[in-house]
Amino acid sequence: MIQSTLSTDLITSDILPVKLQRKPSPHTYLDKRVTKPQRGTKRTRSQRARERLQTKEHLAGLARELHEGELADKIDRCHSRLSVLTCGRHVARIIPNFTCEFRLCPDCGRRRSRKLQTKYLPPMKAFMLHNKVTPVHLVLTQTHRKETRKQAIKRVRDSFTKLQRRIFWKNHFKGGTWSLEITKDKKGFHHAHLHIVGFRRKFFDIELLRSEWLAATGDSHVLHLKPIEDIAAGLREVVKYVSKPLDIRRFGADDLKEFLGLKNMRLFGTFGEFRDFCKDFEPSDNDDAMSELESLTRDLVEGCACPQCSAPLFDLRLSKSELPQFYEQIESSPPGKVGASWN
Ligand SMILES: [Zn+2]
Ligand SMILES: [Zn+2]
Repeated sequence: MIQSTLSTDLITSDILPVKLQRKPSPHTYLDKRVTKPQRGTKRTRSQRARERLQTKEHLAGLARELHEGELADKIDRCHSRLSVLTCGRHVARIIPNFTCEFRLCPDCGRRRSRKLQTKYLPPMKAFMLHNKVTPVHLVLTQTHRKETRKQAIKRVRDSFTKLQRRIFWKNHFKGGTWSLEITKDKKGFHHAHLHIVGFRRKFFDIELLRSEWLAATGDSHVLHLKPIEDIAAGLREVVKYVSKPLDIRRFGADDLKEFLGLKNMRLFGTFGEFRDFCKDFEPSDNDDAMSELESLTRDLVEGCACPQCSAPLFDLRLSKSELPQFYEQIESSPPGKVGASWN
């Protein structure tokens, strides 16, 4: 069952630091009542790598508590040994020894959300061009109730289905994508949110959308809407919930047990006319930015020039615990000084 060396982990963000400066827009509506989505403070790459490691250790521990030894072993083995193609200052590519494909694994989640970006960015760009629609990031929330995670998910998705049937929605939105984020608060309530990239046909008063959402949910008008300036960044922001749909640090064995019982829980989907558009969409060679990036890194081997600094790349074999240390060393070293001690 080892998928081993065939799975290539392309660290897109390591190659091109695509930090997009979002200009403040006069049309940004911020609803302060909405809990800020998982944005957190800015963490370094080494911190993020270390957090992924801790999350996986936590998950494997919970799996063992539930006597799910096979799952725990898979999580332990996933990305446990890495082949890192690096110039010493930049990481061009990481190839893991094994990927567990467990839906809560943060390493596999990252791969999954990158795949979704590669798949959906080209049709999104084409859809916007053909239909003259503008993308917005919409967060739909619901009131807290004492219910199971499954019930909370079903409730928010049912409400969204109702919203899509309403005339107002049909007049103003031409489809898009959704992803699901589920959190659990200290009191044990499950909060399910939908993060939507919606293609807006025309401008509208946000209060009208609030009352439509209230009509669909019966008791919640709380939502958050902001224009997306850059569709690649907007899509990335939404698909990140596919890589971390749940706050696993707050997870106990019971939570994992409940999650394992949620068969086929979808975390991402398309809706409206965009859904049909995707079915027929055939990417052309020139509008696929992600593929361009992928082809830039896919064929890289030892000795090739680093895409960022042109220094020769070398292959570094690291264990999972060494990766955060390696990133740390890159982060703390003056330019050009890293790599030697790892070689
Ligand atoms: Zn994994
Ligand atoms: Zn470099």
